[in-house]
Amino acid sequence: SSKLKISPTFESMRLKEDLLRGIYSYGFEAPSAVQSRAITQIISGRDVIAQAQSGTGKTATFTIGMLQVIDLKSKDLQSMVLSPTRELAKQISQVVSNLGDYMNVSAHACTGGKTVQTDIKKLTQGCHVVSGTPGRVLDMIKRRLLNTRHLKMLILDEADELLSETLGFKQQIYDIFTKLPTSVQVVVVSATMNRDILEVTKKFMSDPVKILVKRDEISLEGIKQFHVNVDREEWKFDTLCDIYDSLTITQCVIFCNTKKKVDWLSAKLTQANFSVVSMHGDMKQEERDKVMNDFRSGNSRVLISTDVWARGIDVQQVSLVVNYDLPENLENYIHRIGRSGRFGRKGVAINFITRDDLSKLREIEKFYSIRIKPMPANLQDIS
Ligand code: ADP
Ligand code: MG
Repeated sequence: SSKLKISPTFESMRLKEDLLRGIYSYGFEAPSAVQSRAITQIISGRDVIAQAQSGTGKTATFTIGMLQVIDLKSKDLQSMVLSPTRELAKQISQVVSNLGDYMNVSAHACTGGKTVQTDIKKLTQGCHVVSGTPGRVLDMIKRRLLNTRHLKMLILDEADELLSETLGFKQQIYDIFTKLPTSVQVVVVSATMNRDILEVTKKFMSDPVKILVKRDEISLEGIKQFHVNVDREEWKFDTLCDIYDSLTITQCVIFCNTKKKVDWLSAKLTQANFSVVSMHGDMKQEERDKVMNDFRSGNSRVLISTDVWARGIDVQQVSLVVNYDLPENLENYIHRIGRSGRFGRKGVAINFITRDDLSKLREIEKFYSIRIKPMPANLQDIS
């Protein structure tokens, strides 16, 4: 029955005229698969679990669904999006503003790392949509500055990360839920969704529409994946220097597992006269913002980061991802490499493998039913 609802065009979704105009002027021509399947379900008012591969347009999926049902005659806060990082929350808020450009919709990014003054100003003026990180949003609710009384829709982007047992967000999300109308519509979204998370969603979702992807279909065909045997940790640096020229062809993200290592690697590359920027969670927010702006504008081409950059961030020019360290969790492997290959573009992922990493590499291959081949001697042969 869900097959009958698939819409090949945005027009056939019967969207508001000014929303449709926003979509087209943003440059979208036709909906992606997840957009075709999920937007009308969200508009129908059902709770929705939407899983789809990275870069396939999940943001616009929930944003279009949300904008269609927002009552612009009211000034009440009607939709809230929660996501795990400040940069992602800001990016989502920007997409809401862009797609809602002709609707006079007001969106506010409510995130940590900056003074509460702008939050207070924006929230007291009133806005239709808040896109935030859980900590700051909860803080604003507790201070009675963020009024959730008229909230109609809650969206959890990167939901499996927000609800994971190992990070600190889950309790905050639960606390936020206690402040929301019981009738609130819930939409959860991610490229990865495991059985435990689906079980957790039962606590706050009712009879959700489930759009799921099998684990062996999560990996994108457009992203070619390779490994380089560096044997020992000490050899990673020279290997990276050897391929640096290929990294700068477009834009590249290099992942390390710790903040310390990010600092160390960026200092060492800078010393060796390679131009790089870096970002992690211990840096001041102004610094993070500057790095994001430079990278988004293409001013800097090689970014070194931790998993703070693993999820959701969309920079279309990124075509190469290097795992200087293999990620500590299997989910983040697919999220990291998914920073490239956005919306059907081609991407390349290169994994540095020490002797100790071999079993982990096999584990990743098994988990996603993929083959991560040895990198060809000449990187140029890839594309
Ligand atoms: P996901 O959240 O699924 O990883 P995003 O929502 O970040 O993906 O979208 C990835 C990229 O695809 C973005 O640059 C977005 O603007 C673009 N995009 C989304 N939907 C469409 C569409 N229908 N047509 C063209 N580009 C799209
Ligand atoms: Mg996303």
